[in-house]
Amino acid sequence: MDAECIFCRIAAGTVPAQIVYEDDDAVAFYDIHPVSPVHLVVVPRRHLTPEDGSQDEGILGHLFVAANRAAEATGVAASGYRLVVNIGEDAGQEVRHLHMHLLGGRHLGWPPG
Ligand code: AMP
Ligand code: ZN
Repeated sequence: MDAECIFCRIAAGTVPAQIVYEDDDAVAFYDIHPVSPVHLVVVPRRHLTPEDGSQDEGILGHLFVAANRAAEATGVAASGYRLVVNIGEDAGQEVRHLHMHLLGGRHLGWPPG
């Protein structure tokens, strides 16, 4: 746990969030600045960064399972959704704690901006 990290604090329950799915290893909650009707952030409970995330394939794979369950919980599993991981400056990554965005509830254009 990184005491300065907002996603660690949400996972620990010390910062409130609208959690839609959680288990021992992952938490999914609504993004505070949504860009689609359903915009979730799916995070591992452990403070992984994109660099060291590659060393924990089990957790990385589990994020897809958690995202799938969060999609079911928010009603977008059937209509479709997009999973996005921003890594580094060019992708606009703001929070270092590894996370997936789950976007759904509208048609999503391609390519993304
Ligand atoms: P990224 O640019 O991939 O690092 O995205 C970080 C995302 O986390 C942004 O979409 C933020 O709106 C979102 N975010 C930051 N703080 C919070 C929070 N306290 N609760 C929910 N979402 C957050
Ligand atoms: Zn963290």
